[in-house]
Amino acid sequence: MKVLVINCGSSSLKYQLIDSDSEAVLAKGLCERITIDGSVLTHSPAGKDKVIIEQPMPDHTAAVKLVLNQLTDSVHGVITSLSEIGAVGHRVVHGGEKFASSTLITDKVIAAIEECNDLAPLHNPANLIGIHACEECMPGVPMVAVFDTAFHQTMPKQAYLYGLPYEYYEKDKVRRYGFHGTSHSFVSKRAIELLKLDRNNSKVIVCHLGNGASICAVKNGESVDTSMGLTPLEGLIMGTRSGDIDPAIIDYIAKKEGLSLDEVMNVLNKKSGVAGLSKVSSDFRDLAEAAESGNELAETTLKVYAYHVAKYIGAYVAAMNGVDAICFTAGVGENNSQVRSMICEYLGYLGIVMDEEANKVRGEELMLSTQDSKVKVMVIPTNEELAIARETVALVK
Ligand code: ADP
Repeated sequence: MKVLVINCGSSSLKYQLIDSDSEAVLAKGLCERITIDGSVLTHSPAGKDKVIIEQPMPDHTAAVKLVLNQLTDSVHGVITSLSEIGAVGHRVVHGGEKFASSTLITDKVIAAIEECNDLAPLHNPANLIGIHACEECMPGVPMVAVFDTAFHQTMPKQAYLYGLPYEYYEKDKVRRYGFHGTSHSFVSKRAIELLKLDRNNSKVIVCHLGNGASICAVKNGESVDTSMGLTPLEGLIMGTRSGDIDPAIIDYIAKKEGLSLDEVMNVLNKKSGVAGLSKVSSDFRDLAEAAESGNELAETTLKVYAYHVAKYIGAYVAAMNGVDAICFTAGVGENNSQVRSMICEYLGYLGIVMDEEANKVRGEELMLSTQDSKVKVMVIPTNEELAIARETVALVK
């Protein structure tokens, strides 16, 4: 079956057409500046030249139509007819406590996703727009929602409750939800498979280190804790997000700097993290370059970053009373051997012995620890689109 995977943002739409039998990506692309002047589609069909189409996309339906035209185009296309698309898988950011797994999209499901909009006001409404646009362009094609939060619904109360008045949980659903669930699930499953662990007796820590970053403790195949919380702002230091801070800093900065609450939140989300701390960039390639050329603040930033990741790993070893494997994934985790080394330097107490030669490789599945290392350290490239396609097929078949 051919599955169209859609990740819809407020002004962007990413897609991949995946053949679920061979798991090959037939085409992928990105619509940008939807609803804004200067809309552009970049379409990359497998084995053919990339095309860039600048054409107005006044709404997401126009974007989906343009994508479908490209997929069936006589020159840039990869299928001859839309009827070849057997299902659509949508990434949906927040499923609240309503969704503990992926689900076939029905009117009832759409209404339940809408009820989670408050929890992800920037993302869920955009995801729903993508669902409606596909419904309009491909009536009758089954669609599946795959939630970033669903994998973490197995967390126990001690992991998901905050030390706040309980009524905020009861009334307003304030709790840890966690994100990147599709990635944590994909990578932990692969680790269990590669290491031939007994799923029901396994302890894996997944470090998803990208622009957004989170860690997950996966015990017996289920998420038991994760670093992102009610929103993706909590946890690790990220590209531009602060991660954990003393909550009193919000009030302190607002008063000191004369900023409104919205402005402080904007700083925490968009101007903090390694970008804010280093004054260089949110991109770890720029940071590494700056540190190498003697920028001390960039070097310190990398140290702070690695230290925070290592502290979380320690916390999750405690949460699971042990660990079999630690997996690195996403842009930084898959490619940045320096950061991986800096993190693992803290982990000798676990009996980890790193194979520094192996650690020089980037971007592919590999074992970073030596054969006699008590805990295995690995790189497992994530593939959220493939995970969404698999979930979609499983529910549609
Ligand atoms: P997002 O959360 O936006 O999906 P990514 O997973 O793409 O983010 O991660 C982005 C980060 O990964 C950047 O900081 C970038 O420096 C790093 N990265 C991506 N590719 C490489 C690479 N080939 N070498 C080193 N770092 C990389």
